[in-house]
Amino acid sequence: MCLTMSKYLVNYTPPSWAQHLKNLPKYKVELAMENTPIHEWNLPGMPDDFSLHIKRLDMTGSSLSGNKVGKIEFLLADAISKGCKHVITCGGVPSNHCRALALACRQVGLIPHLFLTMTSEEVGCRGNVLLDRLSGADIYLMPPDSDDERDVHPKMEALAERILLEKGEKSCLVPKGGSNLIGFFGSMAIYDELSKQGALDRFDDVMVASGSTGSASGICVANYLAGSPLRVHGVLVRHDPEFAHDHVNSTLRQLGVEHVRSEDIFSIIDSYQGEGYSISKQDELDFILDVSSTTGVLLDPTYTAKAAWGVLQEMKKNPGRFKGRRVLFIHTGGMFGLFDGRMDDMLVRHGELTNKVRKCSKDGPLPNPGQ
Ligand SMILES: *Cc1c(COP(=O)(O)O)cnc(C)c1O
Repeated sequence: MCLTMSKYLVNYTPPSWAQHLKNLPKYKVELAMENTPIHEWNLPGMPDDFSLHIKRLDMTGSSLSGNKVGKIEFLLADAISKGCKHVITCGGVPSNHCRALALACRQVGLIPHLFLTMTSEEVGCRGNVLLDRLSGADIYLMPPDSDDERDVHPKMEALAERILLEKGEKSCLVPKGGSNLIGFFGSMAIYDELSKQGALDRFDDVMVASGSTGSASGICVANYLAGSPLRVHGVLVRHDPEFAHDHVNSTLRQLGVEHVRSEDIFSIIDSYQGEGYSISKQDELDFILDVSSTTGVLLDPTYTAKAAWGVLQEMKKNPGRFKGRRVLFIHTGGMFGLFDGRMDDMLVRHGELTNKVRKCSKDGPLPNPGQ
């Protein structure tokens, strides 16, 4: 173990209902702001007979905002405890996971390497990738049609080998979204925090955006282990229900939890992927503006806007899907996705709302305020 970095390790004690699990991690590092607020959220257009609250997981930190930092606390502890100096991970150019991991690595003295699959010709310097670049991470761009298993993972392994040969230093490989069994414990901690905040009795349904299904699996498995009557829903923004259930089922098996299937503990909401992963439809972008200008909450285009939109549609069209009427939406972060240029057109399209900008001259009359 590297002595200078080992000072960041703290012993991990799982919640009482998780102590029998297999493959429990020994350590975590502390990176996230804890006990983020839960508050009422008057989402515009919500039916009257539902009440909605929001868990502000976007407030886990400024640069480390969102659901990824919990996983990263365990992933970096694993890297440090194995004596690694480098962390190699992958994602799309707009990846929140890669951004949070790169900055978190620098906080504890690890060296980040990011394999980013291109989503357009230019990598640019806006959104998450600006922060990736500010972290000084080594960035390796992969062609847009790269497949993780076939193309990206072999390159990550080759890099680890090269670093070992040339520098004699070890690397830790982290999969997309940080959603392996080590990262799972960070997602389980989301549930533990809800429980400690007394949220379990106050709500019937918990809704969370699901991409690689890491976060949703942490919450639904924890909910099952703790024996709570809450119903956990994943709003898919990527992949299909089979992928999501497979992920949860494989997690259950790795944890040594028998006799339960994902299908029994995890409700999947499946029609809000829109045009595809990381692609925004106009009405989703309109919704972001509607929500920010009426509630002050910033949703991100890739995950939380689609998920919150999905929750709203389900409340209207399919209220029977909910266990009860008291709903908690988990805001999983992703705000930097708003800064990648996607919103620029919105300022023009909705100028009556977003362009209430007036020039004042020092001694001329005051311009009229808008409505
Ligand atoms: C990654 C991410 C998600 C999805 O989490 P998974 O664990 O990959 O399912 C949701 N919201 C935001 C903002 C994210 O960055």
